[in-house]
Amino acid sequence: MDWWVSMPKVELHAHLNGSIRDSTLMELARELGDRGLAHFPDVERVILKHDRSLTEVFKMFDLIHILTTDHETVTRITKEVIEDFATENVVYLELRTTPKKNVSKGMNKKSYMEAVLEGLRAVSTVEVDICSEPNFDCSASAAIYARNNECASNGTGKKKIYVRLLLSIDRRETTEAAMETVKLALEMRHLGVVGIDLSGNPIIGEWLTFLPALEFAKEQGLLITLHCGEVPNQVEIHAMLDFLPTRIGHACCFGEEEWAKLKSLKIPVEICLTSNIRTETISSLDIHHFVDLYNSGHPIVLCTDDSGVFSTSVSREYSLASSSFGIQKREMFQLARNAVSFIFAGNKVKQELEQVFDFAAKTLE
Ligand code: 5GP
Repeated sequence: MDWWVSMPKVELHAHLNGSIRDSTLMELARELGDRGLAHFPDVERVILKHDRSLTEVFKMFDLIHILTTDHETVTRITKEVIEDFATENVVYLELRTTPKKNVSKGMNKKSYMEAVLEGLRAVSTVEVDICSEPNFDCSASAAIYARNNECASNGTGKKKIYVRLLLSIDRRETTEAAMETVKLALEMRHLGVVGIDLSGNPIIGEWLTFLPALEFAKEQGLLITLHCGEVPNQVEIHAMLDFLPTRIGHACCFGEEEWAKLKSLKIPVEICLTSNIRTETISSLDIHHFVDLYNSGHPIVLCTDDSGVFSTSVSREYSLASSSFGIQKREMFQLARNAVSFIFAGNKVKQELEQVFDFAAKTLE
């Protein structure tokens, strides 16, 4: 596993509340239990169960959201999630989360996002780059990977991770609520918000409900990624592809026509192997669409989806793809590097990341 950890990686599909450490979830559940607001053993059983159907996963998220309702907790989990990704050499992270309202905690979508930003600022183990487009400084950027490796080996200085945020629209939301999220994203662009995600239980909600907000987001220059084809809904898959999102996530239930359309449009796909297997959206890795997309040179990026809920990590996803599909480390490295082209941050960040990979290519043999 060490090699996979040392390799620089780009994570483009990670949900904040799905990426919480089990230990933190247990601590939060115990506190709720102590206050008589939950029966801890029941909650513990749910948290420690790792094989869940897609439907069960969404029940799990409802439980997680009960544990993470206040601003302080949102700040804490954001900080920890970033630290965890940085520890495994993720050099660029697009973290997505659904801005939430919680009247009893005085939380609205904006204050939720402020708590997330507070979490970004609270990270102290690693340098977090959150500005929308930092001044380009080649000499500094060339040293990121060198510094990351040096820090890992001698414990001095700080690693650097670029973090950008995507605001998620939950499929349970109304058009107005979706529009509110898009407006918030626009307001927070200078704080590292680069795009919009559509997620949530795929059997709930209609594409047309979200379309006005997504069209508005696109007109305003926000980049968009859609959870697409997690269930066999061919009409929706076609409508989503016709919308021309910048990327899509999953693409599990595509038929021949949908594959042909996706490939001709060259829309990059965020692939989450463990998530697909755990939720049984794909029955086995032998028949996973990764193979066909990889062999046909279609743009793909390996991601975790919910590293906490599915007990995985980006390094593990790379290692899993390599061992399952017989792909050598050199090719896996190239796959990770290719992901730089699909990030939502601008060209300057892309160039800096290219240098990180250039440096790593020389040292990681
Ligand atoms: P949050 O947005 O609260 O930070 O992260 C959890 C939320 O992300 C879930 O409530 C759900 O809306 C979305 N999510 C996480 N994993 C998945 C997934 O595999 N599929 C879909 N469609 N949505 C997901």
